[in-house]
Amino acid sequence: MARRGLPNYRKMAFEKYAPICVHCGFGIKEVLEVAHLDCDPQNCDLSNLVILCPTCHRMHDIDLIPTDALVRLRDEKRKPRWAKLMKDAAQKATQTKRLDPGAFQAAAKKAIATRRARAAAKAAT
Ligand SMILES: [Zn+2]
Repeated sequence: MARRGLPNYRKMAFEKYAPICVHCGFGIKEVLEVAHLDCDPQNCDLSNLVILCPTCHRMHDIDLIPTDALVRLRDEKRKPRWAKLMKDAAQKATQTKRLDPGAFQAAAKKAIATRRARAAAKAAT
C-alpha cells in the first residue's frame, strides 16, 4: 500500500523498529500504524517514522502525545525498575513482624535466600 512515488515506509519502519506501539505497547502488527513524526507524509526518513497503535497515532496527530516523548520511547532502551514498587517493603515487613513474632525470622530467611539467588543469577550472566 505504498503511496505513489514514496518508498514503502511501513515496510522500512517494521524492519527497523520493534512491532509494538512505542507509547502504549500494543502489539498486534496488522493493526499497528506507522506515523510521520512531523506529520509530513512525504518525509519518509526513518528518523521521522514511529510505530504507533491507531489511538496513539491519533493522539500524536492532535498533540496530546508530544513528539519528543515518542522519539525518546522509540530510541532509548527501557528497563523496568521493579524496586520502585517496593519502596515501602521495609515498613510493611516491620508491621508484619509486630503482628507475628515468628514472621520476622521467616522474612529474614526469605531475604537471605533472595539475596543469594540474585547473587547467583548475577554471577551466571
Ligand atoms: Zn498505542
